[in-house]
Amino acid sequence: MADNRLRPIGSRRELAAVLRRPLEFASRNGYANAALVDGLGAFLSGVLARASGIAEVRALADELADGLSDWGAAPVPRRVEIVRRWTTLLESASEGAGAAPGHQSSPSPPPRVAKPAPAEWAKHARVQAKELSATARATPKKRKPKPAAAAAAAARRTRGPLDTPVIELKGVGPKIADRLAVRGLRAVRDLLWFLPRRYSVRPPPAQIADLQAGDEAAVVGRVRAHQGGWARRGRRPTFRMDIEDASGVVGVRFFGLSGGFLTRRFPLGERVLVAGKVEEYRDRLEFSHPEASPLAEGESAADAEGRITPVYLDVDGVAPGSLRRLIAAALDGFADAVPDGVPTSMAEARGLPSAATALELVHRPAGDADAADLVALRTHSWRRLIFEELFIFQMGIALRRRASRAVGDDDPDGAAGAPVLGRSDDGEVLGRYLRALPFELTAAQSRVLAEIRGDLSQASPMNRLLQGDVGSGKTAVAMAAAAVAVGAGAQVAVMAPTELLAAQHLRTFRQQLGEGAGAAVAELVGGMRKRARSDELRRLLAGTTDVVVGTHALLQDDVAFRQLGLVIVDEQHRFGVRQRLALRQKGQRPHVLVMTATPIPRSLSLTLYGDLDVSVIDERPPGRGPVVTEVVPEARRDHAYQRVCEELDAGRQAYMVYPVVGDGPDDAAKAEAAGRDELRAATTMVEELRAGPLRGHTVGLIHGRMSPSEKEAVMADFSAGRIGALVATTVIEVGIDVPSATVMVVEHAERFGLAQLHQLRGRIGRGGQGVASLCLLIASDAPGRNAEERLRTLERTDDGFAIAEADLLQRGPGEFLGVRQSGLPRFEVADLLRDGDVLRDAREAAFELVDADPSLRRHPKVREAVEERWAGNVELVEVG
Ligand code: ADP
Ligand code: MG
Repeated sequence: MADNRLRPIGSRRELAAVLRRPLEFASRNGYANAALVDGLGAFLSGVLARASGIAEVRALADELADGLSDWGAAPVPRRVEIVRRWTTLLESASEGAGAAPGHQSSPSPPPRVAKPAPAEWAKHARVQAKELSATARATPKKRKPKPAAAAAAAARRTRGPLDTPVIELKGVGPKIADRLAVRGLRAVRDLLWFLPRRYSVRPPPAQIADLQAGDEAAVVGRVRAHQGGWARRGRRPTFRMDIEDASGVVGVRFFGLSGGFLTRRFPLGERVLVAGKVEEYRDRLEFSHPEASPLAEGESAADAEGRITPVYLDVDGVAPGSLRRLIAAALDGFADAVPDGVPTSMAEARGLPSAATALELVHRPAGDADAADLVALRTHSWRRLIFEELFIFQMGIALRRRASRAVGDDDPDGAAGAPVLGRSDDGEVLGRYLRALPFELTAAQSRVLAEIRGDLSQASPMNRLLQGDVGSGKTAVAMAAAAVAVGAGAQVAVMAPTELLAAQHLRTFRQQLGEGAGAAVAELVGGMRKRARSDELRRLLAGTTDVVVGTHALLQDDVAFRQLGLVIVDEQHRFGVRQRLALRQKGQRPHVLVMTATPIPRSLSLTLYGDLDVSVIDERPPGRGPVVTEVVPEARRDHAYQRVCEELDAGRQAYMVYPVVGDGPDDAAKAEAAGRDELRAATTMVEELRAGPLRGHTVGLIHGRMSPSEKEAVMADFSAGRIGALVATTVIEVGIDVPSATVMVVEHAERFGLAQLHQLRGRIGRGGQGVASLCLLIASDAPGRNAEERLRTLERTDDGFAIAEADLLQRGPGEFLGVRQSGLPRFEVADLLRDGDVLRDAREAAFELVDADPSLRRHPKVREAVEERWAGNVELVEVG
C-alpha cells in the first residue's frame, strides 16, 4: 500500500492538489478554523519534506518550516500567519500548474535558475525588489499589487522568446514534453541552460580483438547480424547486432529502441562507428547502448562528427541523442535571444564571449576544441558562464551592502540611520571595563576594537564579521564593543548557539562587564521559568537590562527591546541566516557584529559574508602554552591514558571526547552508518574509564542529551576543578574556556572534520604560564591512509586557516559548513573551490559597477538578470 506520507510530491500541480483542501479549511471564516486544526503543523511538515524536489519549495524551505514544529502550542495569530504563508505557496503553485506541462502553452514556466517572484511571505524578496525598483526609479511607482497578481505580473513581464514551451520545438510531442518536464525542462530557456555534466571524448578506433570488458572504446566494423527489437510483455525491447572487423566480432546491444528503426539505420553490411562502454554478457563482449552511427565508405572515424560529445544528466525516456538534437534545435532557433547578464565591455575586457556564443560552444564544442580544457570546464565559454553566474550573485551582494549602509537621502526606505554609538560618550563604561580586565588587550584586539568603534560611531549600521582562531580573545573585544554601546545608552543582545556557551558568556559578561563596569547583564534562554522570563522581558522593554545574553530564545516574537543598538552573534556559522536576520529586526537598524572561530577560506567567506566587513584577530594572547598534537594508533591507546593520568596527578584537567552519546537511537544509526558494531560512546566509556584506566580520579560526563541545568552543573564542577577528567561529546566544541585543562583525547578522531578537531583542541592550551598542552587523536584501526594523512595535518600546523583550506579541499564546501546551516547558495556552473579566482574577479567587477551605477539605470540587462537571480533568495545575501 502506498504510504501517502512518504510519497514524494514531484510537481507544482500535485503540490497544489495536496494543499488546497486543508488550507482552504483552515482559512475559512476569517481563519477561525486555524484554531481548530491541530494536525496541520505535522501535515505541512510532511508536505515540506515530500515536496523538497520542487525548486520553489526548496528555496523557501526555511520560511515554510518556520513555526510548524510548535504548531500545537502556537497562538492563533501565529497559526494564521503560517496558513497565510502556505496559502501564498498554494496560489503560486496552482498558477504555475494550470495546464499540464507540455500541453498547449503552459503559463510561463519558471526559469531554471530564478524562482518566480514569490509573494507576501517572501518578505525579504519584496524588500529587495522594492529596493531595486526604488533605487532605479525606472518604473513609475504603482500601488502595491496583490501578491499573487504581482507574481503573475512579474511572470508576464519576463516572458520572452526563451519562454517558448519545448513542445513547440520540432520533434517534441506531448509525450516527450512530459518526460522533459520531469527534469524541469519546460521552456527553451531550460534546455539551453541544461548544461553538460561532462564530455565524452571518443578514443581512436581499436581492433575488435583487442577489446576488453570495462573499456571505453570505439571500433569501426560492418554489421553482420540483427536480432530482437520487439517489446515483450512488460519488458523493454532489446535489439542486438554483431559487427565485425578484420580482427573479430563484437556484439552491440540497444535498449528501448525499436528493431524496425535500427535495422533500417544499420542494414546488414553497413559500415558503422560504435563507441561506448564494453561489457561482458554471457561470456561475450558487448557494447551496451553505445553511440553508433553509419560511416560512409572512405570516411574515417576521425572525420565523423561528435568526437567530443556532451553528456547530460539522463532524462528518463529521452535518448541521449534525441536530447542533444533538441538542445541543438533550441540553440539554432533561440540562441540569439539569450540575454547578456554581463556588460559587453566587461566580457570583452576578459576575453570572454557573449552568453549566446558561450552556450553554443558548451553544448556543441568546435571539432578542434581542446578536449582536456573542455572536460575541466576551462574553456572561455565555460569561464563566461561561470563568470556570469558569480557576477550576478555578487551584484546582489553589492546592492544589498549598499542598501544596508544607506542613510537618509541615500536610503531607499527613508529609514532612520543606526544609533550613533560612542561618538559623544566619554567612553566611561568602556574605560571602566578595560581597567577591570585582568589583562591588557593584545595589539590585534586593540586594532579590531578601533575598527569596531569606528563603525559604531557612524549612522550607517555596522555589519562586521570578526574572525579569530579559537582562543584569540574575541569575547573580550565583543564585551568592549558592548561597553561602548551601553555607554551610549543602547542595549546589546548577545546570541550564542548553545545554552552551554550562552551560560559561559553570561558568566564572563557578568563578571567583566557587569561587576567590572557596572552594566546590567541578564540572560534569556529556553526553559526559563515563566515568571523569570516575563520579568526579564519587562526589563528588556523598559531598558533596565543593558546586555542580554542568550540563545535562540532571544528570537521569540515576544522579546522586544527599548533601544537595541548592537547585536552580537557568536560562532555565527552555526546559525541560519534567517535567525540572524530575525534578531536584527528587533531593533531599529542596530549595529551587527558576528564572530566566528571557524576560519573560513576566502572563497567561501566572500560568498557567505560578502557584504560584511571583516576584522581578523591574528594574534593570540601572550603566555599561552603550546599545544602538541599527536595521532595515536589504536594499539597505543594505553599511552594516551597514561598521559592523561600524569596530567591529572599534576593537578591539571582532561577532556575525553567521543563521537556519540551512546544508548540512543541516533547512535545506533550513526554506528551503523560507520559500518561498525561498536563505536566508543561517551555514556559507556565513562563507566569504563572510571573502573579502569582513570580509576582514582574524578571522571564527569557531559553531552547534548542532558538538560541545560545538568550541563551547567557539570561545567561548573569542571571549572572549579571538582572534576578531573570530563568525558564529553562535541558539546564542548565551541567556546568552553577552562584554563587548567591541558590534555585532550579524541576517540575515533578519523570521524571528525579537521576544522572541528582544531576547534576542539582549542579547548586546551589556555593556561598561560607556558604550560604545554597535549592533544591526542586516537585513530581507530585501519582508518585508511587518507584518514590518517588527514589527521597528520593537525600534527603539522596550528594555523586555523591552513587547516580550513585543507578541510575544504578534502570535503567540499557543503560538508565543510554543513549546507543547511550555512545558507550557502547553490551554483549551477560555478564551483567555489575551483573558481576562486573568477569569484574574486566577478566580485570586484560587481562592486565597481554598483559604485558607478547604483540604480543600474545604465545597465538594464544586468538589472533584469539580478532581479531574476535574487527573487526569493535575497535573504541569503542579508547577513547580520
Ligand atoms: P575566543 O572566543 O576567541 O576563542 P576567548 O575570548 O574565549 O577566545 O578568550 C580565550 C581566553 O583568553 C579567555 O580566558 C580570555 O580571558 C583570555 N584572553 C583574552 N584576551 C586576552 C589577552 N589580551 N591577554 C590574556 N588573556 C586573554
Ligand atoms: Mg569564543
